[in-house]
Amino acid sequence: MSVVCLSLPADLQYSLENMFLVGVILGPNEPPLTAVSHNLTLVVDLFLEFWDPGVYFSCTTDYPHGCLVECALILVVCNLFAARKLAGCAETGHEYFCSVCNCAQKIHGINTTNYHLWICCTNTECWAASAKFLQSTTAAEQASTFDQTGVCFTELLCLPHFNVARCVVVDSMHNLFLGLI
Ligand SMILES: [Zn+2]
Repeated sequence: MSVVCLSLPADLQYSLENMFLVGVILGPNEPPLTAVSHNLTLVVDLFLEFWDPGVYFSCTTDYPHGCLVECALILVVCNLFAARKLAGCAETGHEYFCSVCNCAQKIHGINTTNYHLWICCTNTECWAASAKFLQSTTAAEQASTFDQTGVCFTELLCLPHFNVARCVVVDSMHNLFLGLI
């Protein structure tokens, strides 16, 4: 997992010396849905502090007397499988197969292309489904809640400025270059 600073000029954002390797998800296999959030904890904690109250640097090149730095996580960009897990959403074979809209297999199924009928899900809905999942007291109850909504908990919901429904982006170019789609 790497973080790119969007305040830098575009041609400098993706140079190795300007990117922050924020974590590595260990293999050999992909972590299950419920284990992905754990990998995000450190990143989210970091962004929480940088968002409020911000981090004060006592001296920088441009600010010899120090400056307050505030950061926000704007987008999470990854492939489809990682996007589903990072957003706390079920896999694409689930009844609720989409993390962006409220389409379900039974209503406007996966082959339906009449996009006028698709209704985008909201961050509030993600919050509500996630809260319901967290309030479940047994594994069976959690599984049942997850089946009903297709949403479990994601650490990203702890960021007050982050909209899970809008800001987790599937990196289509990455998928095309690697021949995954
Ligand atoms: Zn959709």
